[in-house]
Formats: sequence, structure tokens, C-alpha cells
Amino acid sequence: MELVQETYDCIDEIEALLGESLGLQTCGSITIASSEASLKEVEALEEAANRFGIPNERIGRERTAQLLPWIDTEAVDVSLYMPTDAFIDSALLCSGYAKAAARLGVELRPNCKVASLMTEGDRICGVELTNGTRLTAPVVVNAAGAWANLLMRPLHVGLPFTPVRSHFWITAIDRERFPANHPFTVIPDARAFTRSDVGALIIGLRESHCQPFDPSTLTNKLEDFDFRKEAEWTVLDECAPLLKRYLHDIDDLPIAHYMAGPSCYVPDAKFIIGPVRAWKGLFTVTGCCGGGVAAGGGMGRLAAELIMGETPFVDPALFAPERFGEVDPFSEAFQQRCADARSNKKGG
Ligand SMILES: Cc1cc2nc3c(=O)[nH]c(=O)nc-3n(C[C@H](O)[C@H](O)[C@H](O)COP(=O)(O)OP(=O)(O)OC[C@H]3O[C@@H](n4cnc5c(N)ncnc54)[C@H](O)[C@@H]3O)c2cc1C
Repeated sequence: MELVQETYDCIDEIEALLGESLGLQTCGSITIASSEASLKEVEALEEAANRFGIPNERIGRERTAQLLPWIDTEAVDVSLYMPTDAFIDSALLCSGYAKAAARLGVELRPNCKVASLMTEGDRICGVELTNGTRLTAPVVVNAAGAWANLLMRPLHVGLPFTPVRSHFWITAIDRERFPANHPFTVIPDARAFTRSDVGALIIGLRESHCQPFDPSTLTNKLEDFDFRKEAEWTVLDECAPLLKRYLHDIDDLPIAHYMAGPSCYVPDAKFIIGPVRAWKGLFTVTGCCGGGVAAGGGMGRLAAELIMGETPFVDPALFAPERFGEVDPFSEAFQQRCADARSNKKGG
């Protein structure tokens, strides 16, 4: 929550600095419990929200139905409404960070591919680009997302994550039932989350056995990568019965789009942020576990504080790259451990 809160603060700062809006949509969120197990999660969320001063209230079925015109509330035992939760277009946020950084003096070099990390003895001293350019630097941060381990491999360091397929479905437009900017939902008992999308509903589902990918099979452009798109229907078939209690006509609902991509999962479902001890001057920020948009501001702040030797605003031990000991991210067994972290994820 501290990391996510930092992202909200970054958005405010960037908007003030650039004098333009990043289009944050404050639609609120509703977490729904229909079992003892998920009620415990709601209680934990409530406790954390109260601790961080984030507005939250339990609402009854009638109010839930008003806020979510598509939901069948019979299966809803408890709804926790957090009215200040928001979503944002991740491309706009990303370009906001880049523009703000440039405004503050950072030199950006878009469309450059790093071929390798340069070493000198036991330290990293820069990067070499695929066009042969060598850039020296006292500190290098590997934030290459799903590809981060490909840059680490020649250094014999394994970062403890693997890319795991994440996906969502978008229904056809029905503006009355799925009004723009109605609250997003987290429904742990259906392994689902939903969010509004210009008059349609985005439905995210987590299958019981998530699909990991070997990082060495990733292509440069994800448009070229085979995400085994037959999952569009097999996963929907598996998960629809769970969601049907809340969305009774899921079997007949027209689905307009399917989106799949790699999310970098870590066995304990916590991010990887900090120094890579084997190489002086090398840091990493990765393993976003499906939360890199929401927590990116806090992840960046923590990394900056560690690099600058400042007192970190959260406990960095939680995110230490070496917390699992030596791992081989190219082994199937390790990739499976990471995929299990997504399969077992309950929250949003
Ligand atoms: C379907 C789906 C839904 C998601 N929903 C959410 C959500 O609701 N909320 C949320 O918070 N997160 C969500 N996520 C996760 C979020 O998208 C990721 O956590 C986030 O994008 C990770 O950011 P990153 O910067 O670590 O990696 P990336 O965004 O992958 O960026 C890494 C960058 O490094 C570049 N790169 C790689 N190798 C090199 C190289 N050798 N040289 C130079 N550049 C290189 C890549 O081109 C890429 O641009 C979702 C992900 C998916 C797939």
C-alpha cells in the first residue's frame, strides 16, 4: 500500500510539473467476499486501509447493485467499497514519467537495445548497445521487465521471477449495464477482477494453473510472441462457472476482445528491488507480479533511495533480489514456482 500510495503522489507531482492531466479515473473499488476465506481477506484489507487512512466502508447489497449495475448480488455476503481507488491508462502514465524525467534533466534514449552489461573486475561499469555504442556509468539499473534475466545470464546471476501469462477479456459495449467509470471489483471467490472500459466490462481471470514462459523464448516484440491464445476459450471455460454467481449470463455475454501478456511473477508474489550483491554498481527493479503500474512509483522511489544510500521509506528486505538464495530462472521447476504465485493470488 505504501508503494501504491507513492504512485498516486507521483501522478500529482508529474501533473503539476508538466501542467497536463494523466487522466486518472477515480472510480472507486469494491472487494467482494462470499466465503469465510475471502471475508478474512476483506478484513485484512480493511485493517490496512484504516492504518493508511484510505477511505473504506462496507456497503449493503442494494448500494452494491446501484454502483455495479451488472452484478447479481445474491452471492455477495460482504462488499468493501473504497471510493478513492482509481485506474489509469498505463501508456499515459509511462509517458508521464518519461516526460517528467526529461524535464528534470534525464537524458532519454528511446529505441535503443542493450546488448550486454559491461563489467570491470567485480563491478558493472555501463552498458553496450546493439549498435556497438558503449555507455559507461557507475550504477546500472536492470529494469528490463520480462527480459531482465536475459541480461543477467552472462553474469551468472538469476533474478527470482519468470514471465507468466496474464490476460483479460473485454465484453461488447453495453453502456447501461457497464457504465463508464463504475467501480472496479476484486472477487477472490471467482478468482476474478473487473473494471469498466468505455461502456464495456474488462474481466480478468486467474486460472488454477497459470502458464509460465521460459525467458529465453521471449521475442523482442511481444506481438510476435505465442501466448498460446487458445487459452482465450479454455481459461474462460474453466473460470466462467465461478464468475456466473455474480454475472449470470457470462455464458452468453458477447466477448469483443482478448488480451494476453507476460507478467513477471516471484515465488512469494513480492517485487524484486535493490542491489544485485554479486556485482557492485548493479541494481534491479523487476518482478512486478501484476502490480507494476500500481506500485511503480513506490518501486522507483525505493530503488532511488537504495542507490543514493538514503534511508528507505519501506523495509527493503521484503524485496531483496537474493532473498531466495541462488535460483535458476531458466529451469522449469523454478518457473513453475513462480506460476504458482499467480495461481494462488487472491487479491487485485
Ligand atoms: C494482461 C495484463 C494486465 C495487467 N494489469 C495490471 C494492472 O491492472 N495493474 C498493474 O499494476 N499492473 C498490471 N499488469 C502488470 C504491469 O503491466 C507490469 O507490472 C508492468 O508493465 C511491468 O513494468 P516493467 O517496467 O517492469 O516491465 P515492462 O513494462 O515490460 O518494461 C520493460 C521494458 O524493457 C525493455 N527492454 C527489455 N530488454 C531490453 C534491452 N535489452 N534493452 C533495452 N530495453 C529493453 C522492453 O522493451 C520494455 O519496454 C498487467 C500485465 C498484463 C500482461
